[in-house]
Amino acid sequence: MREAVAADIALRTGAAVSPERILIVPGGKATMFIAILMLGAPGMEILYPDPGFPIYRSMIDFTGAIPVPIALREERGFAISAEEILGRITPRTRLIILNSPANPTGGTTLRAEIETLVTGLQAHPQVAVLSDEIYDRIVYDGVEHVSLMAFEALRDRLILLNGWSKTYAMTGWRIGYAVWPPALYDAARKLAVNAWSCVNAPTQFAALAALAGPQDAVDDMVTAFAARRQAIVAALNALPNVSCRMPGGAFYAFANISATGFTAKALAAALLEEAGVAAIAGPDFGPQGEGYLRLSYANSLDNIECAIARIGMFLKMARKPA
Ligand code: PLP
Repeated sequence: MREAVAADIALRTGAAVSPERILIVPGGKATMFIAILMLGAPGMEILYPDPGFPIYRSMIDFTGAIPVPIALREERGFAISAEEILGRITPRTRLIILNSPANPTGGTTLRAEIETLVTGLQAHPQVAVLSDEIYDRIVYDGVEHVSLMAFEALRDRLILLNGWSKTYAMTGWRIGYAVWPPALYDAARKLAVNAWSCVNAPTQFAALAALAGPQDAVDDMVTAFAARRQAIVAALNALPNVSCRMPGGAFYAFANISATGFTAKALAAALLEEAGVAAIAGPDFGPQGEGYLRLSYANSLDNIECAIARIGMFLKMARKPA
């Protein structure tokens, strides 16, 4: 299994990774759990994206470390700013969490930004990086996914998070992998073995088949997502007081609803109760998410069209809250 993962990483990033540094775990979440548990401690600072996957902040808080949010802004296409991240590093910073393509925004980080970050990090050897690249294969319009694994300068402190949940739609199988730097591998393995011993064998065989087999199913899925992405973004932009940027990756539309007069939470609750549409309020991903709703387009075109029509109907009928 680990040899197959190493071969796949070599194919996609050009990096030669020893299978001895790869840990097979029950899902991408397991890697963030271990990484933040290992590096977080009271008094230490961890930088993380806001809005971002909620587990990052939840685990930072659990360890007692100081959460340092890095704001992702719509005007930058929700991409990170390397300069901003570097400017927030202090002697107490232990870990930077990055995620591209991103949940919940669909934002992607440009190569130039990553190169600036990697260069700047040379001045901060005490800082580890957790790069969550679970959506790496789900990018559109020729957007290039730049893996941090490709940067030799980071190899001694990069934790690469990836898995099968998104690429192969194997969310419920519970399997993922991480590449750990040599200095952290033994401790990560100890936590993993003590917690769950290993991922169950049938799931590992299934994941191996996914990785080693033909990849046309992945290409077909991304082609379907691309059509749904065009449809949902166009339909959202046609709604009154709603706007939505075209996401570069993942399968989420992050719609700006600030002009509707509703808070994100109030609108998400009302849409669920009155329109039968499930959307997640931006603030559930961090305070910077206020004014946005996340809609997943991992659903059929018919359902997407129906959902957006229902949101439109709701917005036309709804009286704006005072
Ligand atoms: N990382 C991000 C950014 C995600 O959005 C998710 C799942 O939604 C995960 C990791 C975790 O995936 P898994 O199901 O493999 O634990």
